[in-house]
Amino acid sequence: MVPFKNVFTGAETRDYSRAVSSQKCLRAGGKHNDLDNVGYTARHHTFFEMLGNFSFGDYFKDQAIGFAWDLVTGTFGLDRDRLLVTVYHDDDEAFDLWRKIAGLPEERIIRIATSDNFWSMGDTGPCGPCSEIFFDHGTDIPGGPPGSPDEDGDRFIEIWNLVFMQFEQPGDGTRHALPKPSIDTGMGLERIAAVLQGVHDNYDIDLFKKLIAASVDLTGVKAEGKERASHRVIADHLRAMSFLIADGVLPSNEGRGYVLRRIMRRAMRHAHMLGTRAPLMHRLVPALVDEMGTAFGELRRAQPLITETLKLEEERFRSMLERGLRLLDEEVGKLSPSQALPGDVAFRLYDTFGFPLDLTQDALREDGRVVDSAGFETAMAEQRAKARAAWSGSGQKSTEKLWFDLRDEAGGTEFLGYSALDAEGKTLALVKDGERIDGVDAGAVVQLVVNQTPFYAESGGQAGDRGTVSGDNGFEGKVLDTRKQIGALWVHELEVTAGSLRVGDVVHLHVDADRRNRIRANHSATHLLHAALRKHLGPHVAQKGSLVSDDRLRFDFTHPKALDADDLAQIEAQVNALIRQNGDVSTRLMSYDDALEAGAVALFGEKYGDEVRVLSMGNDTQDDAAYSVELCGGTHVHRLGDIALFKIVSEGAVASGVRRIEALTGEAARRYLLDEEALLRSAAAQLKVAPADLPERVSQLADQVKKLERALSDAKKALALGGGTAKGADTETLGDVVFLGQVLDGVNPKDLRGLADDAKKKLGSGVTAFVAVNDGKAAVLVGVTDDLTDQLSAVELVKVAAKALGGKGGGGRADMAQAGGPDGAKAETALEHIREMILRVNAPAE
Ligand code: ATP
Ligand code: MG
Repeated sequence: MVPFKNVFTGAETRDYSRAVSSQKCLRAGGKHNDLDNVGYTARHHTFFEMLGNFSFGDYFKDQAIGFAWDLVTGTFGLDRDRLLVTVYHDDDEAFDLWRKIAGLPEERIIRIATSDNFWSMGDTGPCGPCSEIFFDHGTDIPGGPPGSPDEDGDRFIEIWNLVFMQFEQPGDGTRHALPKPSIDTGMGLERIAAVLQGVHDNYDIDLFKKLIAASVDLTGVKAEGKERASHRVIADHLRAMSFLIADGVLPSNEGRGYVLRRIMRRAMRHAHMLGTRAPLMHRLVPALVDEMGTAFGELRRAQPLITETLKLEEERFRSMLERGLRLLDEEVGKLSPSQALPGDVAFRLYDTFGFPLDLTQDALREDGRVVDSAGFETAMAEQRAKARAAWSGSGQKSTEKLWFDLRDEAGGTEFLGYSALDAEGKTLALVKDGERIDGVDAGAVVQLVVNQTPFYAESGGQAGDRGTVSGDNGFEGKVLDTRKQIGALWVHELEVTAGSLRVGDVVHLHVDADRRNRIRANHSATHLLHAALRKHLGPHVAQKGSLVSDDRLRFDFTHPKALDADDLAQIEAQVNALIRQNGDVSTRLMSYDDALEAGAVALFGEKYGDEVRVLSMGNDTQDDAAYSVELCGGTHVHRLGDIALFKIVSEGAVASGVRRIEALTGEAARRYLLDEEALLRSAAAQLKVAPADLPERVSQLADQVKKLERALSDAKKALALGGGTAKGADTETLGDVVFLGQVLDGVNPKDLRGLADDAKKKLGSGVTAFVAVNDGKAAVLVGVTDDLTDQLSAVELVKVAAKALGGKGGGGRADMAQAGGPDGAKAETALEHIREMILRVNAPAE
């Protein structure tokens, strides 16, 4: 039903209007929970296969009944005298159709008035009456027909449920007819298999017999008497846990991960009851894969992960299980026979020994004892309050109260995004400006919290996901960013673009897959880079920070000095070689200690839970081990080839002893290389050479420029000394001092001293001043012939010039001094100031 939900409501159309399906079903939590029944009835599993046929506004009640009857009595050849059906009490139409089509006598068409025979998706949406087909397994089995007081017995077993979706509930308590009624049916494969194999009990069908035989074989305990239920629980739960893991669920304390953990631990208690003291469940996986691995390839593919996960969970839980059971025994000893187990004891078992509530309930079941579950909830709430107090003590702001309240009231968000990019979630809260609100309309930006989401919330350096959200009433929104609050709630920064959204609404969450894929590639490349740096530079390399976004990656690490071009080239080549290996990226869940033992790189100072995700990638061809093994909660590529290309674009220092590498992957790396190539081509085109000849051409040009500069400077020098026609070479007489002053454009200041020496020789007696102007700046050099140095000091003269040039000071000796200044445009003024000073000191007598 679930996969077709939107087709029934009309939100989605497909190019077919009829379908049949075989679906994997799990009923171990939430609305449908058969966990407690498993092991104790003939017909319940936590995991089973459901066969169904569907009509989306195509055929309806008469044909659905016709098809069903035809299949069970025709194709399957079931004895019609052993079949009976139920209809919803006011569904006369179905009643009449069963009489007409099947020819069933009235006493075997039972009217049922309870909600068991009326199906709805929730308070709103399509709904309608059901009709169920039952098989009578015979008088020697206890149980009564449906609707009778002992209907829950196993004599009359429901094999098939037909849902006639004919109404729509708008949510105001009314119900009206759907224009195009639909059909949805479900038949449990194991139940029909039991009937067809001539056995009464699901656990006696071929598949379960083999699984139970394997468990009998490994435990050496027969599946009889008291032990029968334990073998059944083990066989059933083995399937449920293996399929969950194959579908990407790993045990945790939240959401689906906790459903898995509950199933695993419940099975482990039964393994314990059979007397096993070493982990058992993982040794049963081969039997399951033999039975089901051909039809379900995912089971075979995930076999190593399933085996490892079961083994680890069981190893860790064993010792707690024994201690917890001992405590339970002691506590039960204190109770009177009919007294419920106090809630705080159940909570202690949960909190200290990891006993899920249903495990404790199952353990007490044999004695007919129950748990005070209200007391359990109270104890749980108290502990949360304490945790919150501890958190607020850690200096967090009081606005976080809101998030704690929400978490207490609604639980945390479950993250589905390791395996899914699309999912439905229920709106738990909307927050605007630090306040919870009930609803929001188009145009607003709010924070959205849902019970489960495929959006990754920013952490471990990896950017939060972006994408879209949609829902009923034309609601549409954009997720601008995703962050985590108090480690438990995923908060989507939501811009509502159309319609409106209210707390309680179910929304469809859709992660921007292209962006996520780029982030994945960058994240996996960061792990490869980290490992390559350690292997190349040494184990002193430790991660100091990282940033993984969709457009690039940044990795900071400890290393005392800059990496040279050769280091960088080798590291880059190594990472690209790993990418081309195209190996699978494997994710495993381990205890922290085991992860370290397996060589995983953990970040110093980072806090990890007892359980960690361990990412392994690449193959180190030297020692044939995983190239990179790292603890990480981020999202990664499935195969290294998905990274495509890795390019380092910069390397530099961020702090003393800490280096930073920035790099690109995939399309961004390709574009970067294209841009580099375009630069090269345009430079080559301007110099009119092939790109390959560019370096040689550039060094030729540089040589040429140097030579020309030298020649030019020489020419200017010659000019300054009056070799040419330059008027500047003229001398003048100030008082009775001969003065040669000149501004020289583009003459190297280093050449001024030589010029001055030559000029002084030529003059015999006099003062020279040369101002060289280069790039707007001026250098000035003043020379005074020895005969004049007692009247005129070169140092004093150069100082007045420097002042005019905006510079300070000046230095040298009385016969030769130099200075400079930033204001080359004032070169002539500087000479003028020198002239004035000479005149002042040496004015001709009046
Ligand atoms: P029951 O009352 O026996 O628990 P149900 O009313 O919960 O059955 P439906 O919800 O109508 O069953 O599910 C449709 C079909 O799926 C059932 O007719 C049955 O064949 C199968 N089925 C349901 N629950 C289980 C289960 N826990 N294990 C195996 N098969 C099941
Ligand atoms: Mg049921």
